Amino acid sequence: MPALKLLKLPPPVTEEWEWQMNASCRDIDGSLFFHPDNERGEAREGRVAAAKRICEGCPVRRECLRYALESGERYGIWGGTTEEERRATRARRRVR
Ligand code: SF4
Repeated sequence: MPALKLLKLPPPVTEEWEWQMNASCRDIDGSLFFHPDNERGEAREGRVAAAKRICEGCPVRRECLRYALESGERYGIWGGTTEEERRATRARRRVR
Protein backbone atom coordinates (compact mmCIF):
# COMPACT_ATOMS: atom_id res chain seq x y z
CA MET A 1 0.00 0.00 0.00
CA PRO A 2 1.54 3.38 -0.98
CA ALA A 3 2.23 5.89 1.79
CA LEU A 4 -0.32 8.64 2.09
CA LYS A 5 0.91 12.06 1.16
CA LEU A 6 -0.48 14.77 3.38
CA LEU A 7 -1.34 17.98 1.69
CA LYS A 8 -1.19 21.25 3.57
CA LEU A 9 -4.28 23.09 2.53
CA PRO A 10 -4.83 26.81 3.09
CA PRO A 11 -7.14 27.65 5.97
CA PRO A 12 -10.83 27.84 5.13
CA VAL A 13 -11.75 31.26 3.84
CA THR A 14 -14.20 31.82 6.68
CA GLU A 15 -11.36 31.37 9.21
CA GLU A 16 -9.15 33.81 7.36
CA TRP A 17 -11.84 36.49 7.43
CA GLU A 18 -13.51 35.63 10.71
CA TRP A 19 -11.97 38.62 12.48
CA GLN A 20 -14.18 40.88 10.39
CA MET A 21 -17.23 39.54 12.20
CA ASN A 22 -16.09 41.53 15.26
CA ALA A 23 -15.07 44.68 13.41
CA SER A 24 -16.33 47.94 14.91
CA CYS A 25 -16.91 49.23 11.37
CA ARG A 26 -19.02 46.27 10.36
CA ASP A 27 -22.29 48.18 10.28
CA ILE A 28 -20.86 51.57 9.40
CA ASP A 29 -21.03 53.14 5.97
CA GLY A 30 -17.80 52.20 4.19
CA SER A 31 -17.50 55.65 2.63
CA LEU A 32 -16.14 56.84 5.99
CA PHE A 33 -13.11 54.61 5.45
CA PHE A 34 -12.48 55.23 1.75
CA HIS A 35 -11.98 58.70 0.34
CA PRO A 36 -14.15 59.90 -2.52
CA ASP A 37 -12.49 61.30 -5.64
CA ASN A 38 -10.87 64.70 -5.21
CA GLU A 39 -11.38 64.85 -1.45
CA ARG A 40 -8.84 67.23 0.06
CA GLY A 41 -8.02 69.39 3.06
CA GLU A 42 -10.35 69.66 6.02
CA ALA A 43 -12.98 67.36 4.54
CA ARG A 44 -10.43 64.59 4.20
CA GLU A 45 -8.86 65.25 7.60
CA GLY A 46 -12.27 65.16 9.27
CA ARG A 47 -13.29 61.91 7.61
CA VAL A 48 -9.96 60.24 8.41
CA ALA A 49 -10.13 61.39 12.05
CA ALA A 50 -13.68 60.03 12.41
CA ALA A 51 -12.67 56.68 10.91
CA LYS A 52 -9.60 56.46 13.14
CA ARG A 53 -11.73 57.11 16.23
CA ILE A 54 -13.79 54.05 15.36
CA CYS A 55 -10.63 51.99 14.80
CA GLU A 56 -9.23 53.04 18.20
CA GLY A 57 -11.82 50.98 20.02
CA CYS A 58 -11.97 48.12 17.55
CA PRO A 59 -11.27 44.69 19.05
CA VAL A 60 -9.74 43.40 15.80
CA ARG A 61 -7.57 46.39 14.99
CA ARG A 62 -4.36 44.35 15.08
CA GLU A 63 -5.72 41.69 12.72
CA CYS A 64 -7.07 44.37 10.41
CA LEU A 65 -3.74 46.18 10.21
CA ARG A 66 -1.83 42.93 9.71
CA TYR A 67 -4.16 42.00 6.86
CA ALA A 68 -3.78 45.43 5.21
CA LEU A 69 0.01 45.37 5.44
CA GLU A 70 0.36 41.78 4.24
CA SER A 71 -2.06 42.15 1.37
CA GLY A 72 -0.80 45.58 0.38
CA GLU A 73 -4.19 47.27 0.66
CA ARG A 74 -3.60 50.50 -1.22
CA TYR A 75 -6.70 52.45 -0.29
CA GLY A 76 -8.69 53.28 2.78
CA ILE A 77 -8.36 53.25 6.53
CA TRP A 78 -7.38 49.83 7.85
CA GLY A 79 -6.33 49.10 11.41
CA GLY A 80 -6.40 52.80 12.22
CA THR A 81 -3.91 53.72 9.50
CA THR A 82 -4.16 55.65 6.28
CA GLU A 83 -2.72 54.42 2.99
CA GLU A 84 0.20 56.84 3.41
CA GLU A 85 0.98 55.51 6.89
CA ARG A 86 0.91 51.91 5.66
CA ARG A 87 3.16 52.79 2.72
CA ALA A 88 5.65 54.29 5.17
CA THR A 89 5.48 51.20 7.39
CA ARG A 90 6.08 48.89 4.44
CA ALA A 91 9.02 51.04 3.29
CA ARG A 92 10.58 50.94 6.79
CA ARG A 93 10.17 47.15 6.88
CA ARG A 94 11.88 46.80 3.49
CA VAL A 95 14.86 48.83 4.72
CA ARG A 96 15.37 46.56 7.75
S1 SF4 B 1 -9.53 48.50 12.78
FE1 SF4 B 1 -10.88 50.01 11.83
S2 SF4 B 1 -11.03 49.45 9.69
FE2 SF4 B 1 -10.19 47.70 10.79
S3 SF4 B 1 -11.94 46.42 11.29
FE3 SF4 B 1 -11.60 47.75 13.02
S4 SF4 B 1 -12.88 49.54 12.71
FE4 SF4 B 1 -12.74 48.46 10.76
